[in-house]
Amino acid sequence: MGESMSKRLKLVTGSEAEMEDRSFINPFPDWDQSLSVSSDPAEHSGGNEPLDADGKISDAFQKKVQSKITDLLQQMEEGLKTADPHDFSTYTGWTGIALLYLQLYRVTQEASHLQRALDYVKRALRNLNGRRVSFLCGDAGPLAVGAVVHHHLKNQTESQECLTKLLQLQRSVLSPDSDVPDELLYGRAGYLFALLYVNAEIGPDAVDNNTIIKVVTAVLESGKNLSKEEKKAERCPLLYEWHKKQYVGAAHGLAGIYYMLMQPSAKVSQDTLNELLRPSVDYVRHKKFRSGNYPSSLSNETDRLVHWCHGAPGVLHMLIMTHKVFRDEKYLRDAAECGEVIWQRGLLRKGYGLCHGTAGNGYALLSLYHATQDKKYLYRACKFAEWCLDYGTHGCRIPDRPYSLFEGMAGAIHYLSDVIQPEGSRFPAFEL
Ligand SMILES: [Zn+2]
Repeated sequence: MGESMSKRLKLVTGSEAEMEDRSFINPFPDWDQSLSVSSDPAEHSGGNEPLDADGKISDAFQKKVQSKITDLLQQMEEGLKTADPHDFSTYTGWTGIALLYLQLYRVTQEASHLQRALDYVKRALRNLNGRRVSFLCGDAGPLAVGAVVHHHLKNQTESQECLTKLLQLQRSVLSPDSDVPDELLYGRAGYLFALLYVNAEIGPDAVDNNTIIKVVTAVLESGKNLSKEEKKAERCPLLYEWHKKQYVGAAHGLAGIYYMLMQPSAKVSQDTLNELLRPSVDYVRHKKFRSGNYPSSLSNETDRLVHWCHGAPGVLHMLIMTHKVFRDEKYLRDAAECGEVIWQRGLLRKGYGLCHGTAGNGYALLSLYHATQDKKYLYRACKFAEWCLDYGTHGCRIPDRPYSLFEGMAGAIHYLSDVIQPEGSRFPAFEL
């Protein structure tokens, strides 16, 4: 017993050391509720900075963020001169940069940003390779973004051309003997996102309903089949794997797939939501660690990663969507627990990006703010943005594609541009 006790102690210290290894200790004071309810404006000085006494983002902070965006954009443009000319993807390549400029156009309405988006997406469209079907890593990303950029520029012919090609990809997505997975990064859920994205951006009839239903059905069938094979039809009626592993997070796992299937525009029937999605979400909820975080796969029992791709920051989006669909407060409570984990362990040593970086974790806090309207989460999201203002000074790991949307600087700029107009913020290539 003595031995197993000391072993356990060692394990605890081991994992604590590892946690510290993965994230920085959050240096920021937490939100102070008492300051926000006080009626005496004199008491607010510096209290919940960068929010002012009305709970709005202060002008000074907005200015600081805007000037950092200008500065980082310059660095990014310079750095992209040596980026892989053939990487067309949203995740690490030219489509991701186009998506950033589309976002800057959305928030500033400056035509030059739209022109930049066009230049970059054209570069992407010249490099399609027909290998993958998803928005993040496959041809669907550049085609969908191309359709949207051309639509904004009123180039209807070019926009339609992109849409036609996007729809042609459904053949390999739907083919029963294709080896397309179901997850978001490379699979069917990532193709489904592309379809829902163009409908959200161009109009509800850009992609016909029939195609959406076919893709949704293919994802559902695949999940039901694996669940039966694994004899989990009772507990988790929709089960998915990628490379033989049943991942939980947003990028490769159940959370990302369920999140897409529950989008109102995916039009999954109420019966299917009740009978297949809800018990499956509950199955994932029961895998929650004591900390409030989630494992990276169903077979993994170490509480380690707090990333959008693996862990609470991705699962949170699924929980918030489940709360929207079923109006059961327990889902929002679990999402709030994710929020605590992210606040404590979300300033990552891996960097400032979206997939496994501070900006991606900041987006989870913004989503929690949208769902609850609690200023505490907006304050915390601003603090994560403040961290990003000191880009590159914390000694983080340098990602392989340091300027890209999902690994690097473009993702942090995207986040900064959203945080100062938080009401309309959306995690790119993920939230609709
Ligand atoms: Zn990642």
